[in-house]
Amino acid sequence: MYAAASESGAVTQKCVGSGGSGPAGLLAGDKADVVDEHAGIVVVLVVDRVEADPQLDPRLVAWTPEFDPRPGRLGPVDAEGAATDDAPPRADVTAAWRGVMTTQLIILDFDGTFTDSEEEGAPFAAAYPRLMAAAAGAPDAFYDHWEGALAATRAESPRFGWRMNGRDAAPADADPYIRCSMAAHKVLDALGLALDPPVRDKLLGETYQAAYAHSAIAFRPGACEALQDLVDTGIPVVVVTNSSTHHVVRKVGQLGLRDASAVKVFGNAMKFWVEDGPIGDARFDGLPEREAAPRLDRPLWLRRSRYFARLAELWAEHGATPATTVVCGDIYELDLALPAALGAGVALMRRANTYAFEEDAVAAKGERGLVVDDLRAFARWVRG
Ligand SMILES: [Mg+2]
Repeated sequence: MYAAASESGAVTQKCVGSGGSGPAGLLAGDKADVVDEHAGIVVVLVVDRVEADPQLDPRLVAWTPEFDPRPGRLGPVDAEGAATDDAPPRADVTAAWRGVMTTQLIILDFDGTFTDSEEEGAPFAAAYPRLMAAAAGAPDAFYDHWEGALAATRAESPRFGWRMNGRDAAPADADPYIRCSMAAHKVLDALGLALDPPVRDKLLGETYQAAYAHSAIAFRPGACEALQDLVDTGIPVVVVTNSSTHHVVRKVGQLGLRDASAVKVFGNAMKFWVEDGPIGDARFDGLPEREAAPRLDRPLWLRRSRYFARLAELWAEHGATPATTVVCGDIYELDLALPAALGAGVALMRRANTYAFEEDAVAAKGERGLVVDDLRAFARWVRG
């Protein structure tokens, strides 16, 4: 059964189904205005439904005369909306679909996404043990343990996680910043220092910020071009980072954008902070506790309340929803797991040591997920 519309916009036949996070189907009798046509896909704004059904929102819908509701597929569908042939996904249709989707907000991580973390973090990692040893009040003893702790952190990741608020928030070896923090935990544990969790967290937080001031600037190739490209779409582009706003604004200012103020930076996002209880927002409170990750032998936690609070503020400010948001980051758990669980499109920027479970998780998102090696590829994906 195919979707079709009369000249008045009344949908005359049934089109069933939903494309991932995207448009829902139409019912016979729905009234709709055609708002765009691209590569054979017609986009309509549904102005009157024959029956109220929350499953059929959002109201922006796209179809072709031979529309299989899954993005990337063309071909006949049966009365239940299932494909009746085995045609493989078509890249041109997928691209067209993405092009007509209403992306309303682009969210970017910074460290490791715009930058080469390992290169940029090298001076951070060089300064870190000195700063931590001084702050912990045990210079010589600290150095005796440092290299061994770093080696153990590398060897035990990703099962060994960046533990914050009692949860493993990310692989311990994901980048130099996390690696140093987790190695510091090992040394402090071995020396019996700062054992009280709030004292430990404060020590780690302050040392992280002090060492971050030493980090170099090593942008990924094409970072400026891609960011300018994204800004030029007219879609709001924001950076949400665990690093301090001040440090990242400084780095964005050095990228070479025509107008760096076009990109707002929200620092100290605490994407690592996982909380169990409800927070009074149905989108968050309805999330499962964890995501299945067969190739990760520890839980992958979803309920990142501080990150959600930042996202919710941005959605309210920009009139966006999770389904009209795309997020790009280099650490799946920190940057992408939460927005993906809420329905956002997500792109994983591959690191030198990206883990298989991270690529698995993105692949499981189907059309809503992408793994890239270059921000320019992300920009092309967003533009469709
Ligand atoms: Mg990052």
